[in-house]
Amino acid sequence: MTMTDLKVSFDEVKKAIRDVPDFPHKGIVFKDITPVLQNPRLFRQIIDHLCDRYSTAKIDAVVAIESRGFFFGTAVAEKLELPFIPVRKKGKLPYHTVQASYDLEYGTDTVEMHKDALKEGQRAVIIDDLVATGGTIKAAAQLVEALGAEVVEMAFVIELAFLNPRDLLEGYRVYSMIQYS
Ligand code: AMP
Repeated sequence: MTMTDLKVSFDEVKKAIRDVPDFPHKGIVFKDITPVLQNPRLFRQIIDHLCDRYSTAKIDAVVAIESRGFFFGTAVAEKLELPFIPVRKKGKLPYHTVQASYDLEYGTDTVEMHKDALKEGQRAVIIDDLVATGGTIKAAAQLVEALGAEVVEMAFVIELAFLNPRDLLEGYRVYSMIQYS
């Protein structure tokens, strides 16, 4: 593995992230990344950083989670000339799928991936904008593994560290650019 932790400051990105209280529910502080996307220099900083991180890691595919993960995942995949694999909420992907469910505060949710998206033995990185409890990314990792592929690392722009997502993600490599504790 040749992933080096380049010392890069994401202070400007952090300043651009907008807190929206009580969205989508009362008591949730939503981390709005649209101001980051509106600033090409900051957006490029994130994409370039992820590409630097994974360019020598022998990755076969970039997996990302609907929908904000797609902003970052597609750009990284294109730049690294790697296949892009979408993970979507149940019922959105048209072909045969593998599925994994995860717990929400109330009830469960299901994510899917096309069953021909990855081949056995392939190495994938999974990207999302934010990790909170870790439930969504863990389900995405189970989809990668259901197809016999390997999760090399899970990468996030934002980690809500005060929710301790790394506890649920024990056994996986987790990387985040900005942490809130
Ligand atoms: P979790 O499964 O709890 O790790 O939740 C992660 C998913 O929910 C990601 O796809 C995030 O985009 C979204 N999410 C959860 N909490 C927030 C938050 N406070 N602000 C923005 N997005 C969030």
